[in-house]
Amino acid sequence: TSAQIGVTGLAVMGRNLARNFARNGYTVAVHNRTSSRTKALVEEFGHEGDFIGTETAEEFVAALERPRRLVIMVKAGEPTDAVIQEFAPLLEPGDMIIDGGNAHFADTRRRERELRERHGIHFVGMGVSGGEEGALHGPSIMPGGPRESYDSLGPMLEKISAKAADGAPCVTHVGPDGAGHFVKMVHNGIEYADMQLIGEAYQLLRDVAGYSPAEIAEIFRTWNTGRLDSYLIEITAEVLSHVDAATGKPFVDVVVDQAEQKGTGRWTVQIALDLGVPVSGIAEAVFARSLSGHAKLREASQGLAGPKAAPLGKEEAAAFADRVEQALYASKIVSYTQGFHEIAAGSEEYGWDIDLGAVSSIWRGGCIIRAAFLDRIRAAYDARADLPSLLSDETFAREIADAQDDWREVLIAATRQGVPTPGFAAALAYYDALRASRLPAALTQGQRDFFGAHTYRRVDREGAFHTLWGGDRSEVSA
Ligand code: NDP
Repeated sequence: TSAQIGVTGLAVMGRNLARNFARNGYTVAVHNRTSSRTKALVEEFGHEGDFIGTETAEEFVAALERPRRLVIMVKAGEPTDAVIQEFAPLLEPGDMIIDGGNAHFADTRRRERELRERHGIHFVGMGVSGGEEGALHGPSIMPGGPRESYDSLGPMLEKISAKAADGAPCVTHVGPDGAGHFVKMVHNGIEYADMQLIGEAYQLLRDVAGYSPAEIAEIFRTWNTGRLDSYLIEITAEVLSHVDAATGKPFVDVVVDQAEQKGTGRWTVQIALDLGVPVSGIAEAVFARSLSGHAKLREASQGLAGPKAAPLGKEEAAAFADRVEQALYASKIVSYTQGFHEIAAGSEEYGWDIDLGAVSSIWRGGCIIRAAFLDRIRAAYDARADLPSLLSDETFAREIADAQDDWREVLIAATRQGVPTPGFAAALAYYDALRASRLPAALTQGQRDFFGAHTYRRVDREGAFHTLWGGDRSEVSA
């Protein structure tokens, strides 16, 4: 017998993905650099389906039916290149290498081109979201690469992927070469923003409203029955209601308050800077994690002056909580607006022709940012595929219009009481900047022209102009 798919790299992700394929009736060849992992997988989970355990690269390749479909699930970066270099010479034109790791999309573009040109191999950069549980029970899958690869790979991915509430598989061919990993990257950037906004909501409920973690967990549980219904809100309630067994304190109070990151959020911001897309909410989320980790700097700043938050009375607190829900929802709309702008810009820059509605659709299940909210985004793009921005959608615009008074009040309270809310604030600044009829950018252009003769355009005439600042201040055409 031969295998319809092979997985090499059998740490948590690869192992669970291999089991997912096997549980769905596929024969799966498995391989790992250290072969004890391969043996352990077959011994422990062999009863779940048809596995072909292999030790050498040659055995692994020989076990695959043609055209071969070989999934790589190893550490991103150099290890991925090493594994590609090991297998590519053993493959034939038309075979497929699928990289399910968290690769940078620029690496994926390079690998796709090299493998196509040198070996005639179809290279599919595949974003996978949902962590180890998702890999086993159904992740959200974002494959890029050549369109024809999806014809044979797509149906298999549709089987193992998560299904949205309406039964649709959470996978689609995102676009050529690096499109899949690009979309996965922005997914993670949006995830950072979502988490930061939830964190700010928690801090406000705690410091301004005066609620306990257990009470806040209940508030999140209530929110999770409404428009904020999402995986991240659900697990927030779980984490907040958890009590540390050793001390009897709320779990959240015994965890060191320094957030770590593996890099995809940072990439989202770096690429946005390159593309010239203002993803200020995602950037604030990345910076907030970075700031939290500067222990010495924070220690040295403990004596700085500022207000001490004085908790509200019971009734005021409940009203405030409702306002925080509005602020959180409005800020969330803004971060998704920014994230989708980045995807649209990447698609334009690299000629990917990404369907934004399809992207929101495949994030509805399996991934970390899965949420009822994504149905609304899909509806917005269904109604108008060339929507200039999510904020241009009537429904979202109306919801923000309804939320904005509360959003502003929450930020006023946060500022007055000294609770840092960079995510909420950046989102509101973005919103207000977009709707402003005039921005101080006119002044910026004047300054640039003054010190560097960088010229400016006029509101009333075509062309570029320069003022002779050092002379008689007359205006000349540039
Ligand atoms: P790791 O990222 O910890 O990678 C471990 C695997 O990589 C092992 O199989 C290891 O083999 C192999 N490996 C490392 N270096 C080499 C090398 N030079 N040559 C051959 N094999 C090598 O495993 P995860 O399962 O956590 O993640 C796999 C991929 O999936 C990563 O790219 C990760 O970013 C991505 N991912 C992870 C998610 C998660 O939630 N963990 C979610 C989505 C994607 P050996 O056993 O021999 O050491």
